[in-house]
Amino acid sequence: MRRTIFEDEHEAFRETARGFLEREAVPRGDAWEADGVIDRPFWRASAELGLVGFAADEEHGGAGLRDFRFNAVLDEEVVATGARTDAFSLTNDIVVPYFTDLASEEQQARWLPSVTTGDAVIAIAMSEPGTGSDLRAIASTATWRGDHYELSGSKTFITSGIQADLVVVAAKTVREGVDGIGLFVVPATADGFTRGRKLEKIGRKAQDTAELFFDGVRVPEADVIGDPGKGLRYMMRNLPQERLSMAVTAVAHAEKALAITLDYVKERNAFGRPIGTFQANRHALAELSTEVAIARSHVDRCIDAQVVGELTPVEAAGAKFWTTELEFRVMDRCLQLHGGYGYMEEYEIARMWRDSRVQRIYGGTNEIMREIVGRDLGL
Ligand SMILES: Cc1cc2nc3c(=O)[nH]c(=O)nc-3n(C[C@H](O)[C@H](O)[C@H](O)COP(=O)(O)OP(=O)(O)OC[C@H]3O[C@@H](n4cnc5c(N)ncnc54)[C@H](O)[C@@H]3O)c2cc1C
Repeated sequence: MRRTIFEDEHEAFRETARGFLEREAVPRGDAWEADGVIDRPFWRASAELGLVGFAADEEHGGAGLRDFRFNAVLDEEVVATGARTDAFSLTNDIVVPYFTDLASEEQQARWLPSVTTGDAVIAIAMSEPGTGSDLRAIASTATWRGDHYELSGSKTFITSGIQADLVVVAAKTVREGVDGIGLFVVPATADGFTRGRKLEKIGRKAQDTAELFFDGVRVPEADVIGDPGKGLRYMMRNLPQERLSMAVTAVAHAEKALAITLDYVKERNAFGRPIGTFQANRHALAELSTEVAIARSHVDRCIDAQVVGELTPVEAAGAKFWTTELEFRVMDRCLQLHGGYGYMEEYEIARMWRDSRVQRIYGGTNEIMREIVGRDLGL
């Protein structure tokens, strides 16, 4: 079915992104996986082309493109080209909105210009060693000391944590008259900020993920995003876009796996015929490709809703858990259809299978997504 959500400007952006990623990201993939990080010159070149922080206003180096269809196009092209980085979705879909939608004009003018040139890599630190799903239970604290906050605590699983220059940190605010969590922006140069290990993951190996430690970090009041007691509300506001981003990636990933696998099962023979022509395999692929087409329609509908500000947290949660589970079923079946070759690193399906697993965990686990949907049913 022809997709109807994109205009000419989105398709032009797609062409630009695809050409750039094919040229600049794909050849670097193996090196990035070996290093466990993407390189800065690539990130700066991406920014120069307008692929980083394009939602920021023009005076802050962006293009004022607050239209999630551009984000979706870029997420899809990262998957379609096989560019091995989460940095675009993390930056554009997840972290930049905390600046563009919630930070003051003065803060945006201080932070966004270096983000949009690629000089400042950004990250968001919510999860802690002791808690991930239950954000209300975070133990990091930001204690008011009369003219600044003192931030202490540990964070873990932080995407881009090794490279980050600027981290949005969720911490419990300890200040008279404030009851809640705040969002504190910490530069990596701050005294008391240290990075832990680059975590060894089973997938997404080109993307750095780290532990971060804050030991009495001084945070001026000017570096708090919004109200110091409303961080949880801000996260709840922004998490639907994060979850939609994952659904967009899930469908694109599943489509790509099916395309690769269809080629494979038409060429690989067993018992004198292409393996795809055995009824068991033909039916499996028919079912999965139909499910992916249905997922595509639904996610396009969610993108449309997000563009006009109507996507609800419940809809985003449903889209996230359903599509990421479909994604993993597709990957697993597609890997199986590759036989032993599917288990070999040199076959793309092997990496895609590994990379897809985390989608059911991060951004809120799929169990938590079901809780959000279930509670909305009045249960
Ligand atoms: C590769 C990667 C990148 C990440 N990037 C970031 C990042 O950039 N920033 C960040 O802040 N975090 C990040 N995370 C953390 C991620 O969001 C958390 O791992 C996730 O929210 C789950 O938290 P947890 O790991 O503490 O699991 P837990 O909360 O301990 O959950 C463990 C299990 O219990 C289940 N469970 C918990 N509560 C319930 C319930 N009420 N009902 C049913 N089941 C339940 C969960 O679904 C899960 O299966 C990342 C994680 C990974 C793996």
